[in-house]
Amino acid sequence: MKPDRGMDEFGLIDRFFRRPPRNPQVAVSIGDDAAVLDVGGRLAITTDTLLAGVHFANGARAFDVGYKALAVNLSDLAAMGARPRFFLLNLSVPAATETWLADFSAGLFALADAQGVDLIGGDTVRGPLGVTITALGELPPGAGLTRAGARPGDRIYVTGRLGCAALGFYYRQGRLDVPPMFRDGVLARLDRPTPRCQEGMALLPFASAAIDVSDGLAADLGHMMEASGTGAEIDLARLPLSAAYAACFSAVGWDAALGFGDDYELCFALPQEHVMAFEAVSCAFACGVRHVGDVVATPGVRWFDKGRPYVPLRRGFNHFG
Ligand SMILES: [Mg+2]
Repeated sequence: MKPDRGMDEFGLIDRFFRRPPRNPQVAVSIGDDAAVLDVGGRLAITTDTLLAGVHFANGARAFDVGYKALAVNLSDLAAMGARPRFFLLNLSVPAATETWLADFSAGLFALADAQGVDLIGGDTVRGPLGVTITALGELPPGAGLTRAGARPGDRIYVTGRLGCAALGFYYRQGRLDVPPMFRDGVLARLDRPTPRCQEGMALLPFASAAIDVSDGLAADLGHMMEASGTGAEIDLARLPLSAAYAACFSAVGWDAALGFGDDYELCFALPQEHVMAFEAVSCAFACGVRHVGDVVATPGVRWFDKGRPYVPLRRGFNHFG
C-alpha cells in the first residue's frame, strides 16, 4: 500500500494487525517475508474472498466485515473437523481510513481470540474493498472429515438453527417484517455467524461425512450426497428452526431455511453404530444438534412435508448461476 496520510503499509500492519502469537507453533509471524510454522502433522487449508457489493453491503460495519471474513473460513475448517490455528489476511481497501481499519481489526480479532487463531501474515493493497482470508487448521494424523463418505442408513444431522441469516437479510432489505423482539438476533446471525469449530472437532471420531451450510441446506446437503454417491430423505418438520423463524413462517415458508444459506451451521452424516456415543458428546453442544433425516442409496435429496414430497424453490446461491 502506498503511504497515505502518514500511515504506510508497515505502520498500518503494526498498528492494527501485529500481535504476539498465542500458538507456540508460530516460529516466524507477521513482518518477515513469510511465516514459519512448526507443525508435525496434518493441516486443513481453506481460503475465501468477501467483496463489497457482492458478499457484504458497501456500507456494512467494518467490525462485521472483519468478523464474518474470518468466520466463513473457520466454518470451512469446522466442516473438516480441524482445529483452527492460523490465518493469512489479504486486504484491499480504497484508502487507509484509520477508523475503518480499527473497527475491522476489532471484529477480526474478536473472533480470532474466541477461537484461538493467530494472524501470521498477508498483504494489504489499495483497491476496491475486499477481504481474502486463508485459514489453516490442524487434524490428528490420518483424520479429517470430507463431503464423501456417507453411506445408506446413516443419519443426517444439522447443528444450531437454519434460516436466521435469511430473515436478517430480508429484514434489512425491507422485504420482510420481523417482529421487533427478533430483529437484533437475526441481524447478528447474518453479520456475525458463529463457526461451529468445537462441534466439528467433536464430530471427527463419529461422522462419515460433513459440510458447512454456506449456500443453504438444499444445495449443501446436495453437494455432500453427490460426493458420497448417495441420496437423502429429509422430514421438514425436523428442521431446527428458531422462534424468530416460526414467527415469520407464514411469509417465508420452508425456503428461507433451505435455500438462502449464510447460516454456517454444520450438516453431517452419522453411521447408526455411532449414534449413542455421539449423542452422549453432542448433548454438550450449546448450539444444539438435530437428526433431520437419513441417507439412502437413491441419488438426490428428497424433502417431505407431512409425508408429501416438497420441492424447495431456490437451490442455493451460485455466483455464476
Ligand atoms: Mg464450505
